[in-house]
Amino acid sequence: MKKRRSRLDPTRPVAIWRSKDLLEGKPTDSLTIILRTRGCRWNRCTMCGFAAEGAPATAEDLMVQFRVAADRLSSRTRVVKIYTSGSFFDPMEVPAQVRERILDLLSGTGVEKVVLESRPEYIALDVVLDCVSRIDVEVAIGLETSNDLVRSHSVRKGFTFSDFKAASEIVHRGGGTVKTYLLLKPPFLSEGLAISDALRSSRAASPYTDLFSLNLCNIQRGTVVERMWQQGSYRPPWLWSAVEVLKNAPSVPIICDPVAAGTRRGPRNCGRCDRAIAEAIRKHALTQDPGVFEHLDCGCKSAWEKVVELEDLAFGAPLA
Ligand SMILES: [Zn+2]
Repeated sequence: MKKRRSRLDPTRPVAIWRSKDLLEGKPTDSLTIILRTRGCRWNRCTMCGFAAEGAPATAEDLMVQFRVAADRLSSRTRVVKIYTSGSFFDPMEVPAQVRERILDLLSGTGVEKVVLESRPEYIALDVVLDCVSRIDVEVAIGLETSNDLVRSHSVRKGFTFSDFKAASEIVHRGGGTVKTYLLLKPPFLSEGLAISDALRSSRAASPYTDLFSLNLCNIQRGTVVERMWQQGSYRPPWLWSAVEVLKNAPSVPIICDPVAAGTRRGPRNCGRCDRAIAEAIRKHALTQDPGVFEHLDCGCKSAWEKVVELEDLAFGAPLA
């Protein structure tokens, strides 16, 4: 049991990693920090298993976590993403003085932009103005889909498209930018419906966002999606479907990190082409060049085309 206890230590972040992100159109060094907080107050979404990472971290614990993570900053880091598996703007998760202290510490480094995540209900003008007075801020909101029916029944997200629009207007008015998460293939949607839902959502939300992040649904532990997958009534999206959305989304930048691509619990194709397609998706995120998808092909593409064509007739059961 020792391993489990140390994993949930409230003074250790969930994860820290360095990667590359687009900043003003150029690939730039970034640091991602997942702070361990008490977790999302909503915690009802069908695909989200992040609650398992939570621990009752105090303000002091959170500062210890942040200092551990800040050791990984390099002189070239320009973007820092601070996630909590919940909402950075929920004062129950991250007390205001912690939020202020973290942003002040980052503003004294070479970091130019901080990306934070929040549900719309915690996004208030005074909070955004306060953050932006310290450092440039991008607020990421998990809209998932522009369709209120899909968001409430299939994702169980608990807010509406109008809530998202209002929150996005607040962020913009406060001087921040907005990143919008779209979920590719919420449960109960066929492969074809999932593609059209993501494309329709990207068109509907584009006036309210500066950047889209397409999240490919994967199977997290302890979720409704996991139970459906165990019963054979859910399959994560094909990588071909992600390519289809990335190629046809509107001209707002759209990025995608195909987490767990090619694994049983992740988005995947046939197994032979997964690595190459995931690679192209990552390259597209840093270049926004749809040309990276041009020469991809595999024998499984025609199987995927059949699934997109026929799955709506299979009463919700995944084909292949
Ligand atoms: Zn293939």
